Amino acid sequence: MSYLIITELQKHYDNYHALRGINLSIQEGEFIVFVGPSGCGKSTLLRTIAGLESSTSGSIDLDGRDITELSSSKRDLAMVFQSYALYPHMTVADNLSFALRLAKVPDDEIQEKVRSVSASLQLDPLLDRKPKELSGGQRQRVAIGRAIVRQPKVFLFDEPLSNLDAALRVKMRLELARLHKKLGTTMIYVTHDQVEAMTLADRVVILNAGSIEQIGTPLELYREPNSRFVAEFIGTPKMNLLPVDNIVRDQEEIAFHLLEGRILFPTNRIKGPMPSSIILGIRPEHLTIVEEEDDFSGRIELIEHLGSEAYAHIQISSDQTIIVKTAARSEIRDGQLVNLHIDRNEIILFNESNRVISLLAEDVEHG
Ligand code: ADP
Repeated sequence: MSYLIITELQKHYDNYHALRGINLSIQEGEFIVFVGPSGCGKSTLLRTIAGLESSTSGSIDLDGRDITELSSSKRDLAMVFQSYALYPHMTVADNLSFALRLAKVPDDEIQEKVRSVSASLQLDPLLDRKPKELSGGQRQRVAIGRAIVRQPKVFLFDEPLSNLDAALRVKMRLELARLHKKLGTTMIYVTHDQVEAMTLADRVVILNAGSIEQIGTPLELYREPNSRFVAEFIGTPKMNLLPVDNIVRDQEEIAFHLLEGRILFPTNRIKGPMPSSIILGIRPEHLTIVEEEDDFSGRIELIEHLGSEAYAHIQISSDQTIIVKTAARSEIRDGQLVNLHIDRNEIILFNESNRVISLLAEDVEHG
Protein backbone atom coordinates (compact mmCIF):
# COMPACT_ATOMS: atom_id res chain seq x y z
CA MET A 1 0.00 0.00 0.00
CA SER A 2 1.36 3.42 -0.92
CA TYR A 3 2.19 5.96 1.74
CA LEU A 4 0.75 9.08 0.14
CA ILE A 5 -2.16 8.57 -2.24
CA ILE A 6 -3.65 11.43 -4.23
CA THR A 7 -6.87 10.59 -6.04
CA GLU A 8 -8.64 12.65 -8.71
CA LEU A 9 -7.49 15.92 -7.18
CA GLN A 10 -9.05 19.02 -8.75
CA LYS A 11 -8.38 22.64 -7.93
CA HIS A 12 -10.23 25.65 -9.32
CA TYR A 13 -9.21 29.23 -8.54
CA ASP A 14 -12.32 31.21 -9.45
CA ASN A 15 -12.36 30.66 -13.21
CA TYR A 16 -8.97 28.99 -13.51
CA HIS A 17 -8.70 25.19 -13.52
CA ALA A 18 -5.26 24.76 -11.91
CA LEU A 19 -5.25 21.00 -11.14
CA ARG A 20 -7.08 18.71 -13.54
CA GLY A 21 -7.57 15.32 -11.95
CA ILE A 22 -4.23 14.45 -10.35
CA ASN A 23 -3.67 10.77 -9.47
CA LEU A 24 -0.41 9.93 -7.77
CA SER A 25 0.86 7.24 -5.38
CA ILE A 26 4.06 7.77 -3.46
CA GLN A 27 5.93 5.11 -1.47
CA GLU A 28 7.34 5.74 1.98
CA GLY A 29 10.89 7.11 1.76
CA GLU A 30 10.70 8.19 -1.87
CA PHE A 31 12.21 11.47 -3.09
CA ILE A 32 9.62 12.81 -5.51
CA VAL A 33 10.18 15.93 -7.61
CA PHE A 34 7.37 17.90 -9.25
CA VAL A 35 8.75 19.69 -12.27
CA GLY A 36 7.29 21.63 -15.17
CA PRO A 37 7.20 25.08 -16.72
CA SER A 38 6.02 28.10 -14.79
CA GLY A 39 2.29 28.06 -14.18
CA CYS A 40 1.82 24.29 -14.70
CA GLY A 41 0.46 23.82 -11.17
CA LYS A 42 3.46 22.43 -9.22
CA SER A 43 3.17 24.83 -6.29
CA THR A 44 -0.60 24.51 -6.21
CA LEU A 45 -0.28 20.72 -5.98
CA LEU A 46 2.34 20.97 -3.21
CA ARG A 47 0.35 23.56 -1.29
CA THR A 48 -2.80 21.46 -1.60
CA ILE A 49 -0.94 18.47 -0.15
CA ALA A 50 0.33 20.77 2.63
CA GLY A 51 -3.17 21.99 3.38
CA LEU A 52 -2.30 25.60 2.54
CA GLU A 53 -4.82 25.46 -0.32
CA SER A 54 -8.09 23.58 -0.24
CA SER A 55 -8.91 21.21 -3.09
CA THR A 56 -12.11 21.55 -5.11
CA SER A 57 -12.57 17.77 -5.15
CA GLY A 58 -10.57 14.57 -4.82
CA SER A 59 -8.75 13.09 -1.85
CA ILE A 60 -5.34 12.91 -0.19
CA ASP A 61 -4.45 9.97 2.07
CA LEU A 62 -1.27 9.86 4.15
CA ASP A 63 -0.16 6.69 5.93
CA GLY A 64 -3.66 5.22 5.88
CA ARG A 65 -5.43 8.40 7.01
CA ASP A 66 -7.60 10.70 4.90
CA ILE A 67 -6.07 14.16 5.41
CA THR A 68 -8.03 16.00 2.69
CA GLU A 69 -10.03 18.12 5.10
CA LEU A 70 -7.46 18.39 7.91
CA SER A 71 -5.87 21.71 8.75
CA SER A 72 -2.26 22.10 7.73
CA SER A 73 -0.90 21.76 11.27
CA LYS A 74 -2.59 18.37 11.76
CA ARG A 75 -1.20 16.74 8.64
CA ASP A 76 2.23 15.66 9.97
CA LEU A 77 3.96 17.47 7.13
CA ALA A 78 6.70 20.09 7.21
CA MET A 79 7.17 22.62 4.44
CA VAL A 80 10.36 24.46 3.47
CA PHE A 81 9.80 27.60 1.42
CA GLN A 82 11.90 29.42 -1.15
CA SER A 83 11.69 32.53 1.04
CA TYR A 84 12.97 30.56 4.12
CA ALA A 85 10.22 32.18 6.27
CA LEU A 86 12.41 32.32 9.39
CA TYR A 87 11.30 34.40 12.39
CA PRO A 88 13.58 37.46 12.09
CA HIS A 89 13.59 38.40 15.79
CA MET A 90 14.54 34.90 16.98
CA THR A 91 17.98 33.32 17.12
CA VAL A 92 18.77 30.24 15.05
CA ALA A 93 18.32 28.07 18.16
CA ASP A 94 14.90 29.60 18.86
CA ASN A 95 13.86 29.25 15.23
CA LEU A 96 14.79 25.57 15.38
CA SER A 97 12.93 24.90 18.63
CA PHE A 98 9.86 27.09 18.05
CA ALA A 99 7.48 24.41 16.73
CA LEU A 100 8.46 22.02 19.54
CA ARG A 101 7.92 24.67 22.23
CA LEU A 102 4.54 25.42 20.69
CA ALA A 103 3.69 21.72 20.87
CA LYS A 104 4.75 21.73 24.58
CA VAL A 105 7.46 19.12 24.06
CA PRO A 106 9.52 18.70 27.30
CA ASP A 107 12.57 20.98 27.49
CA ASP A 108 15.25 18.28 27.61
CA GLU A 109 13.73 16.58 24.57
CA ILE A 110 13.71 19.89 22.66
CA GLN A 111 17.36 20.49 23.52
CA GLU A 112 18.35 17.02 22.38
CA LYS A 113 16.53 17.39 19.05
CA VAL A 114 17.92 20.85 18.35
CA ARG A 115 21.43 19.66 19.24
CA SER A 116 21.19 16.69 16.88
CA VAL A 117 19.77 18.70 13.95
CA SER A 118 22.23 21.52 14.50
CA ALA A 119 25.14 19.07 14.39
CA SER A 120 23.94 17.32 11.25
CA LEU A 121 23.40 20.62 9.38
CA GLN A 122 26.59 22.28 10.71
CA LEU A 123 24.64 25.00 12.48
CA ASP A 124 26.49 24.81 15.84
CA PRO A 125 28.53 28.01 15.34
CA LEU A 126 25.39 29.90 14.27
CA LEU A 127 22.92 29.02 17.04
CA ASP A 128 23.03 32.45 18.71
CA ARG A 129 22.75 34.48 15.51
CA LYS A 130 19.63 36.11 14.11
CA PRO A 131 18.56 35.34 10.50
CA LYS A 132 19.83 38.71 9.22
CA GLU A 133 23.35 37.70 10.31
CA LEU A 134 23.30 34.60 8.09
CA SER A 135 24.11 34.01 4.40
CA GLY A 136 21.40 32.72 2.05
CA GLY A 137 22.73 29.16 2.25
CA GLN A 138 22.86 29.28 6.05
CA ARG A 139 19.29 30.59 6.24
CA GLN A 140 18.13 27.79 4.01
CA ARG A 141 19.88 25.25 6.26
CA VAL A 142 18.07 26.70 9.30
CA ALA A 143 14.75 26.48 7.42
CA ILE A 144 15.47 22.82 6.63
CA GLY A 145 16.56 22.19 10.23
CA ARG A 146 13.35 23.70 11.52
CA ALA A 147 11.43 21.21 9.38
CA ILE A 148 13.57 18.26 10.51
CA VAL A 149 13.13 18.78 14.27
CA ARG A 150 9.41 18.23 13.83
CA GLN A 151 10.05 14.72 12.47
CA PRO A 152 7.25 14.98 9.91
CA LYS A 153 5.97 12.08 7.83
CA VAL A 154 6.72 14.00 4.65
CA PHE A 155 8.94 17.00 3.85
CA LEU A 156 7.57 19.42 1.28
CA PHE A 157 10.06 21.70 -0.47
CA ASP A 158 8.87 24.61 -2.61
CA GLU A 159 11.76 25.70 -4.87
CA PRO A 160 14.01 25.84 -1.78
CA LEU A 161 17.24 26.61 -3.66
CA SER A 162 16.14 29.16 -6.22
CA ASN A 163 17.27 32.17 -4.17
CA LEU A 164 20.84 30.87 -3.96
CA ASP A 165 23.66 31.50 -6.39
CA ALA A 166 24.62 28.73 -8.83
CA ALA A 167 27.56 27.30 -6.87
CA LEU A 168 25.65 27.22 -3.59
CA ARG A 169 22.67 25.65 -5.31
CA VAL A 170 24.79 22.72 -6.42
CA LYS A 171 26.26 22.36 -2.91
CA MET A 172 22.84 22.49 -1.21
CA ARG A 173 21.47 20.02 -3.74
CA LEU A 174 24.11 17.53 -2.63
CA GLU A 175 23.38 18.24 1.02
CA LEU A 176 19.70 17.57 0.42
CA ALA A 177 20.47 14.30 -1.32
CA ARG A 178 22.67 13.26 1.63
CA LEU A 179 20.03 14.33 4.10
CA HIS A 180 17.42 12.24 2.33
CA LYS A 181 19.74 9.20 2.43
CA LYS A 182 20.34 9.72 6.12
CA LEU A 183 16.78 10.44 7.26
CA GLY A 184 15.00 8.15 4.81
CA THR A 185 11.91 10.38 5.14
CA THR A 186 9.56 10.87 2.20
CA MET A 187 10.31 14.12 0.40
CA ILE A 188 8.36 16.04 -2.22
CA TYR A 189 10.25 18.78 -3.95
CA VAL A 190 9.03 21.41 -6.42
CA THR A 191 11.35 22.96 -8.98
CA HIS A 192 11.22 24.37 -12.50
CA ASP A 193 14.84 23.25 -13.00
CA GLN A 194 15.01 19.93 -14.80
CA VAL A 195 18.64 19.38 -13.72
CA GLU A 196 17.61 19.59 -10.06
CA ALA A 197 14.76 17.20 -10.79
CA MET A 198 17.00 14.70 -12.57
CA THR A 199 19.75 14.74 -9.93
CA LEU A 200 17.59 14.60 -6.79
CA ALA A 201 14.58 12.47 -7.62
CA ASP A 202 13.86 8.80 -7.20
CA ARG A 203 10.87 9.58 -9.41
CA VAL A 204 10.00 12.75 -11.29
CA VAL A 205 6.44 13.92 -11.87
CA ILE A 206 6.24 16.16 -14.94
CA LEU A 207 3.28 18.52 -14.88
CA ASN A 208 1.83 20.33 -17.87
CA ALA A 209 -1.13 22.72 -17.68
CA GLY A 210 -2.54 21.21 -14.48
CA SER A 211 -2.18 17.54 -15.48
CA ILE A 212 0.50 14.93 -14.96
CA GLU A 213 2.26 14.44 -18.27
CA GLN A 214 4.49 11.54 -17.17
CA ILE A 215 5.88 9.94 -14.00
CA GLY A 216 9.12 7.99 -13.97
CA THR A 217 12.69 7.66 -12.79
CA PRO A 218 14.97 10.32 -14.27
CA LEU A 219 16.43 7.83 -16.74
CA GLU A 220 13.04 6.53 -17.82
CA LEU A 221 11.93 10.05 -18.64
CA TYR A 222 15.14 10.76 -20.49
CA ARG A 223 15.18 7.54 -22.48
CA GLU A 224 11.49 6.83 -22.85
CA PRO A 225 9.52 10.07 -22.90
CA ASN A 226 5.90 9.45 -23.87
CA SER A 227 5.38 12.84 -25.48
CA ARG A 228 7.19 15.62 -27.24
CA PHE A 229 6.58 17.82 -24.19
CA VAL A 230 8.59 15.50 -21.91
CA ALA A 231 11.23 14.86 -24.55
CA GLU A 232 11.86 18.58 -24.93
CA PHE A 233 11.63 19.40 -21.24
CA ILE A 234 14.16 16.83 -20.01
CA GLY A 235 17.78 17.01 -21.16
CA THR A 236 20.23 19.80 -21.94
CA PRO A 237 20.91 20.70 -24.62
CA LYS A 238 17.41 19.95 -25.83
CA MET A 239 16.47 17.06 -28.05
CA ASN A 240 16.68 17.99 -31.76
CA LEU A 241 13.35 17.80 -33.56
CA LEU A 242 13.32 17.35 -37.31
CA PRO A 243 10.16 17.39 -39.34
CA VAL A 244 10.05 14.47 -41.72
CA ASP A 245 9.58 15.92 -45.19
CA ASN A 246 7.39 13.23 -46.59
CA ILE A 247 6.57 9.68 -45.80
CA VAL A 248 6.77 7.17 -48.59
CA ARG A 249 5.04 3.88 -47.97
CA ASP A 250 5.43 0.63 -49.77
CA GLN A 251 4.76 -2.87 -48.62
CA GLU A 252 7.85 -3.41 -46.57
CA GLU A 253 8.96 -0.09 -45.28
CA ILE A 254 8.26 3.55 -44.71
CA ALA A 255 10.94 5.85 -46.00
CA PHE A 256 11.41 9.13 -44.23
CA HIS A 257 12.92 11.70 -46.48
CA LEU A 258 15.02 13.78 -44.19
CA LEU A 259 16.55 16.78 -45.91
CA GLU A 260 18.88 15.53 -48.58
CA GLY A 261 19.30 12.14 -46.88
CA ARG A 262 17.02 9.19 -46.47
CA ILE A 263 16.20 7.26 -43.35
CA LEU A 264 14.42 3.97 -43.71
CA PHE A 265 12.14 2.41 -41.18
CA PRO A 266 10.58 -0.97 -41.85
CA THR A 267 6.82 -0.52 -41.41
CA ASN A 268 6.69 -3.49 -39.09
CA ARG A 269 8.73 -1.60 -36.49
CA ILE A 270 5.86 0.81 -35.88
CA LYS A 271 3.35 -0.40 -33.31
CA GLY A 272 -0.24 0.77 -33.63
CA PRO A 273 -1.86 2.90 -36.30
CA MET A 274 0.24 4.59 -38.95
CA PRO A 275 0.69 8.29 -38.17
CA SER A 276 -0.34 10.92 -40.68
CA SER A 277 2.72 13.07 -40.00
CA ILE A 278 5.96 12.44 -38.17
CA ILE A 279 8.55 14.45 -36.27
CA LEU A 280 11.88 12.80 -35.66
CA GLY A 281 13.56 13.42 -32.28
CA ILE A 282 17.25 12.77 -31.68
CA ARG A 283 19.36 13.87 -28.71
CA PRO A 284 22.58 15.83 -29.33
CA GLU A 285 24.72 12.90 -28.12
CA HIS A 286 23.17 10.53 -30.64
CA LEU A 287 24.37 12.46 -33.66
CA THR A 288 27.95 12.03 -34.78
CA ILE A 289 30.12 14.10 -37.09
CA VAL A 290 31.69 11.67 -39.54
CA GLU A 291 34.28 11.85 -42.31
CA GLU A 292 32.34 10.22 -45.14
CA GLU A 293 29.01 11.28 -46.57
CA ASP A 294 26.27 9.80 -44.36
CA ASP A 295 22.66 10.54 -43.35
CA PHE A 296 22.86 14.27 -43.97
CA SER A 297 25.19 17.23 -43.81
CA GLY A 298 25.27 20.78 -42.50
CA ARG A 299 27.44 23.80 -41.84
CA ILE A 300 28.82 24.59 -38.39
CA GLU A 301 27.41 27.89 -37.26
CA LEU A 302 28.85 28.03 -33.76
CA ILE A 303 30.70 25.83 -31.28
CA GLU A 304 30.16 26.12 -27.54
CA HIS A 305 33.18 24.79 -25.66
CA LEU A 306 32.38 23.47 -22.21
CA GLY A 307 35.81 22.07 -21.46
CA SER A 308 34.84 18.42 -21.05
CA GLU A 309 32.80 18.48 -24.26
CA ALA A 310 31.52 20.85 -26.92
CA TYR A 311 28.15 21.59 -28.49
CA ALA A 312 28.23 22.20 -32.22
CA HIS A 313 25.30 24.19 -33.59
CA ILE A 314 24.92 23.02 -37.15
CA GLN A 315 22.74 24.58 -39.79
CA ILE A 316 21.17 21.78 -41.80
CA SER A 317 18.72 23.80 -43.88
CA SER A 318 17.80 27.44 -44.40
CA ASP A 319 15.51 27.38 -41.37
CA GLN A 320 16.84 24.62 -39.14
CA THR A 321 19.79 24.34 -36.81
CA ILE A 322 20.56 21.25 -34.75
CA ILE A 323 22.91 20.67 -31.83
CA VAL A 324 25.49 17.90 -31.80
CA LYS A 325 27.47 16.98 -28.71
CA THR A 326 31.09 16.30 -29.60
CA ALA A 327 34.37 15.60 -27.87
CA ALA A 328 36.13 18.63 -26.42
CA ARG A 329 39.17 18.24 -28.66
CA SER A 330 37.31 17.62 -31.85
CA GLU A 331 38.97 19.23 -34.86
CA ILE A 332 35.86 20.95 -36.19
CA ARG A 333 35.77 24.68 -36.90
CA ASP A 334 33.10 27.35 -37.38
CA GLY A 335 31.89 27.54 -40.97
CA GLN A 336 32.99 24.01 -41.82
CA LEU A 337 30.71 21.69 -43.80
CA VAL A 338 30.30 18.36 -41.94
CA ASN A 339 28.64 14.99 -42.50
CA LEU A 340 26.30 13.70 -39.84
CA HIS A 341 25.26 10.24 -38.77
CA ILE A 342 22.11 9.48 -36.78
CA ASP A 343 22.16 6.57 -34.33
CA ARG A 344 19.10 4.65 -35.59
CA ASN A 345 18.48 2.98 -32.22
CA GLU A 346 18.10 6.30 -30.45
CA ILE A 347 15.56 7.89 -32.76
CA ILE A 348 12.26 8.82 -31.13
CA LEU A 349 9.31 9.51 -33.42
CA PHE A 350 6.34 11.71 -32.57
CA ASN A 351 2.96 11.59 -34.29
CA GLU A 352 0.61 14.40 -35.32
CA SER A 353 -0.60 14.77 -31.70
CA ASN A 354 2.97 15.00 -30.34
CA ARG A 355 2.74 11.57 -28.68
CA VAL A 356 5.52 9.05 -29.07
CA ILE A 357 5.10 6.46 -31.79
CA SER A 358 6.00 3.10 -30.23
CA LEU A 359 8.69 1.25 -32.10
CA LEU A 360 9.67 -2.38 -31.88
CA ALA A 361 13.36 -3.00 -31.27
CA GLU A 362 15.37 -3.36 -34.43
CA ASP A 363 16.34 -6.95 -35.18
CA VAL A 364 19.91 -7.69 -34.30
CA GLU A 365 21.70 -8.81 -37.40
CA HIS A 366 23.75 -11.96 -37.12
CA GLY A 367 26.53 -12.24 -39.62
P1 ADP B 1 3.79 26.74 -10.80
O1 ADP B 1 4.15 26.50 -9.37
O2 ADP B 1 3.85 25.50 -11.63
O3 ADP B 1 4.55 27.86 -11.44
P2 ADP B 1 1.24 27.50 -9.71
O4 ADP B 1 0.79 26.24 -9.06
O5 ADP B 1 1.78 28.57 -8.82
O6 ADP B 1 2.26 27.18 -10.89
O7 ADP B 1 0.02 28.11 -10.52
C1 ADP B 1 -0.75 27.36 -11.45
C2 ADP B 1 -1.74 28.28 -12.11
O8 ADP B 1 -2.72 28.70 -11.18
C3 ADP B 1 -1.12 29.53 -12.69
O9 ADP B 1 -1.70 29.80 -13.92
C4 ADP B 1 -1.46 30.60 -11.69
O10 ADP B 1 -1.61 31.85 -12.30
C5 ADP B 1 -2.77 30.10 -11.12
N1 ADP B 1 -2.90 30.52 -9.70
C6 ADP B 1 -2.07 30.21 -8.69
N2 ADP B 1 -2.49 30.72 -7.53
C7 ADP B 1 -3.63 31.39 -7.80
C8 ADP B 1 -4.57 32.15 -7.02
N3 ADP B 1 -4.40 32.31 -5.71
N4 ADP B 1 -5.62 32.69 -7.67
C9 ADP B 1 -5.82 32.51 -9.00
N5 ADP B 1 -4.98 31.81 -9.79
C10 ADP B 1 -3.90 31.25 -9.20
